[in-house]
Amino acid sequence: MREISSTCPYCGVGCGVTVSVDDSSSGLKDKLLVLASETHPANFGRLCSKGSALGETLDQTRAKTSARTKVGSKEWSRVTHPTIDGELADWGQATSAIADKIQHSIDTHGAESVAFYLSGQLLTEDYYVANKLMKGFIGTANVDTNSRLCMSSAVAAYKRAFGGDVVPCSYEDLEEAELIILIGSNAAWTHPVLYQRMVSAKQANPDMRVVLIDPRRTVTEDLADLHLQLAPSSDGYLFQGLLNFIINSSALDNGYVEKFTEGFEAAKESVARYSIKEVAVKTSLSESDITTFYEWFAETRKTVSFYSQGINQSATGTDKCNAIINCHLASGKMGYPGAGPFSITGQPNAMGGREVGGLSNQLAAHMDFSAQDTDRVQRFWQSPSIASQPGLKAVELFDAIGEGKIKVLWIMATNPAVSLPNSAQVRAALEKCPTVIVSDVCHTDTSHYADIVLPAKSWSEKDGTVTNSERRISRQRAFRKAPEVAKPDWWALKEVAHKLGFQEYFDYASARHVFVEHAKLSGFENGGTRGFDISGLAALSSTEYDELAPIQWPVTASSPNGMERMFEDGVFFTDSRRARFVISTPVMVDHSAAQFTLNTGRIRDQWHTMTRTGTAPSLTGHDEIPFVEIHPDDAAEYKLEHDQFARVYNQFGDYVAQVKHSSDISRRQLFSPIHWTDQFATNGVVSHVVSPEVDPVSGQPESKASAVSIESYDCAVWARVLSAEPISREGWRYWAKYKTSQGFGYVLGTDEEHDWADWATSQNGQAGEIAHFMNPLRKSETLILSVDDTQMLAVHVHKKASELPSAAWLNNAFSNTALPDVLRGESGDADKLICSCFATTEQTIRASIEAGSANVEELAGALGCGSKCGSCRPELKRLLAI
Ligand code: SF4
Repeated sequence: MREISSTCPYCGVGCGVTVSVDDSSSGLKDKLLVLASETHPANFGRLCSKGSALGETLDQTRAKTSARTKVGSKEWSRVTHPTIDGELADWGQATSAIADKIQHSIDTHGAESVAFYLSGQLLTEDYYVANKLMKGFIGTANVDTNSRLCMSSAVAAYKRAFGGDVVPCSYEDLEEAELIILIGSNAAWTHPVLYQRMVSAKQANPDMRVVLIDPRRTVTEDLADLHLQLAPSSDGYLFQGLLNFIINSSALDNGYVEKFTEGFEAAKESVARYSIKEVAVKTSLSESDITTFYEWFAETRKTVSFYSQGINQSATGTDKCNAIINCHLASGKMGYPGAGPFSITGQPNAMGGREVGGLSNQLAAHMDFSAQDTDRVQRFWQSPSIASQPGLKAVELFDAIGEGKIKVLWIMATNPAVSLPNSAQVRAALEKCPTVIVSDVCHTDTSHYADIVLPAKSWSEKDGTVTNSERRISRQRAFRKAPEVAKPDWWALKEVAHKLGFQEYFDYASARHVFVEHAKLSGFENGGTRGFDISGLAALSSTEYDELAPIQWPVTASSPNGMERMFEDGVFFTDSRRARFVISTPVMVDHSAAQFTLNTGRIRDQWHTMTRTGTAPSLTGHDEIPFVEIHPDDAAEYKLEHDQFARVYNQFGDYVAQVKHSSDISRRQLFSPIHWTDQFATNGVVSHVVSPEVDPVSGQPESKASAVSIESYDCAVWARVLSAEPISREGWRYWAKYKTSQGFGYVLGTDEEHDWADWATSQNGQAGEIAHFMNPLRKSETLILSVDDTQMLAVHVHKKASELPSAAWLNNAFSNTALPDVLRGESGDADKLICSCFATTEQTIRASIEAGSANVEELAGALGCGSKCGSCRPELKRLLAI
């Protein structure tokens, strides 16, 4: 048995995992066991539902494959070979074709006609080589990343305030804090292990207070002593008011302000008008709640502001981040344990991308485009030319593609056809671009547009480093062999660089070679002027790199073991070495003329565009198809029943989703998750309606407040299907698919007359026995197809989607050997998977509560739910409270 330490590939918490590999076993299930690392400082033995299911996703990376791009992209399939125009190629042909396209484009249209679009899923080594090739050798800064959509406003704000993109805090500060302010974060679902660490800290210190600032009532509220359910996008006013309150109270730390900051007087003047009364008007909060929050902030020395996409994904996100930082500077609440403005990244290696210069407005290693920086980096790289100004940011980049300015686009490990705002326009741009290259593990909605596809290595197969939200660099290690043809992205980039004539500058034999060069650049002529410095790792041998333990940068000769907390000495990276107050201008999105404002976000058990998590049955049960939440009063006004389908639309496009009534959301607001793609549903891509408006400083899109309308989406007949084998997606007006432990689940909608018995038989392709039940009371029809006494397919048909049984109910029924009896007496009761680890549904939990389980621990004892990864514990508490 081998044990390998690696890092979870999903969110920015960056949890450590330990993989046990039994080389003597041939079955994957027995061969590999992925568990939480007990010693990794990010998680100390915890994993959330997604991390706990990592082992389940490994099956899929060996699943049936398709080499042809445009055929394979509608269904999940591994990319196994390079292809050029849909035809098989070898790596030599593919990298030559890419180099030829790039060279031809440079010669004909200039370097600016070439662009890379990268990803926070890449390893730092991949990111470094891509950035070096584009900025130092192709000679343009047209290299951007999906991290633009995640935290670029936080980066811009840190740079404005601190003179460098430096996160001051550590996860331990969340445990040391006496007040945690969760701003625009549903941490219980988006950063679950940090949430669990906060829960434990609060249990250990009952005096700890938690304030949640979010227009939605989420499960994170369970931890909060105070929930400020403010008007969408009004956070800026709340923090302007807080700064004004601090300035006029004993919380103002004059000593800190005078000694370590600049720009205070102007900031003071800019917030003078934000009285509590004014803030209450702007935010729709009560004056007493605002006062409580302000007083708690003022009186609590150890205060951490924990903010994430709810702040960043805004047309004024950078200003909002600076408004938060201003409050910490004015009150001196940073630079010691338990305090600071703490931006949490969404992606596993967003921070690594920031280190290498993965954003188009950074050069490399925390250097920008000043003459000194470009000269320094060019000398270090010995490059023939270097980008001298920032390149196009993500939304601008795809606009330029649509305008025909970009001729060659190389996309790595991301799915912009789904994730970028106004995605119909993005898809049109991809269609128009003369050469689109996609490097990925599997076919996606984006690879549908690719002319050249390259097979990348997946998590478990690739080797390198990632950096989490607290600046901690950890190793991702390979623990099983990749399919023969899959290659690391740094290797593919190196090959193309060689064919462009840059062999001697890209002479990398391993990920370690790349890493040590990156580390050397970070320390090159640094002298303490740049926060990112890992020169202490620049001499790592192969063994030392292989054995590298998680470590927080900076790692230098003077701090060889890394640094837990930044700015303890009050010295920053601005020219004056003082932190800057930044005058920010709050702006409310004016949607008064719109029917609804759409908020988007993540759900508990899915990650990004579901390319990995969508393949794990235990992760699809919690929310299996696209949905839109609406307040019950709005639903009544618009005649939208719970569980029926609706079309959400605006001038950019539309998507279809199942309606969920929820009083967690305020009137005139909608919420939909971001994950669904064309591979999983008909027209389920939420970003079709997300506005392309961006923050003027960071270029980060406003993903939390798009003006939309909603209307009923009806089909003549709806069906829920559970099948042991995949069914055809052709011929349906609506189609959504999810993986189950028994096979595949579907929701189908059609306006055509259907003979369901004929259809069921035709799906299976072999003779079987059909059991057919009509339920006149419920006006429903149920069919079960069995072959040799094995149930292969169950179909439940109704004219109303809202009358279909839930996925959990049908899954349970299908598992029952007496399925016909179960369905004959079916009630179609609503049920929902709550605990992914133990497959416990809401009905089972309610029954246990009725039988006497009085708290989460008793439910865990009776059913197991909540006792493993803990991601469902807030939902268990909600059920107990009903
Ligand atoms: Fe992975 Fe969950 Fe940890 Fe995030 S919190 S790194 S998704 S295990």
